[in-house]
Amino acid sequence: MVDKEKVERAIKLLLEGIGEDVTREGLVDTPARIARMYEELFAGMDGDAKEYLGRTFTVQDNKMVLEKEITFYSMCEHHLLPFYGKAHVAYIPNGKVVGLSKLARTVEVFARRPQLQEQLTAQIADALMEDLGAQGAMVMIEAEHMCMTMRGVKKPGSQTVTVISRGRFEEDTHLQEMFFKMLGR
Ligand code: ZN
Repeated sequence: MVDKEKVERAIKLLLEGIGEDVTREGLVDTPARIARMYEELFAGMDGDAKEYLGRTFTVQDNKMVLEKEITFYSMCEHHLLPFYGKAHVAYIPNGKVVGLSKLARTVEVFARRPQLQEQLTAQIADALMEDLGAQGAMVMIEAEHMCMTMRGVKKPGSQTVTVISRGRFEEDTHLQEMFFKMLGR
C-alpha cells in the first residue's frame, strides 16, 4: 500500500533538494499529485500473480500458448525512471490454461513496482511455472530505458532485450526456435 502522506513529504523534500521553491503556483500541488500517481504506478506492490494464474480452464492439448506484444510500463529501480516496451509470454500447459487477459495482468503485477528488466522477465516466467504449474515458460522483453536515453550514454531508441526460459523450454531448443518463429524473428 502506497503511503501517500509519506510520498508527498518526500517529493516536497526532493524539490527543495534541487533548489526549487515548493510554494510557487506550478509546484504547490505537485507532491500530492505524484503521491496519487504513484498509487497507480506501483499498484503491483500489492498484487499477486496467483490471483490471475489461479483461475484456470482444463485443456486436453498441451500446445504452446503465446501472447505477444503485451505493452507494459515499469520503473527502473536504480533511477526511478520509466522503462517500457513489449513483453512476449509463452508457456506449455500442464492440462490447465488461463484466459489470455490474465497473462497481461501477470505482466502488469510485476511491472508496476520498482524493477529491473532481467528480474521482471524472470518473475513472469517463474509465476507461470509456480502459480499456473506450466511444463515450461519462455518470456522475452524488449524495452527502452529512460535512464539510458535521457541521461548517461543517451542512446534514444536503443532496446534492451531479455529472454528467460524455464522447464521444457530450457531443455528443448526446438521449442525455443518455435517461440522465436511465432514471434516472427
Ligand atoms: Zn536505470
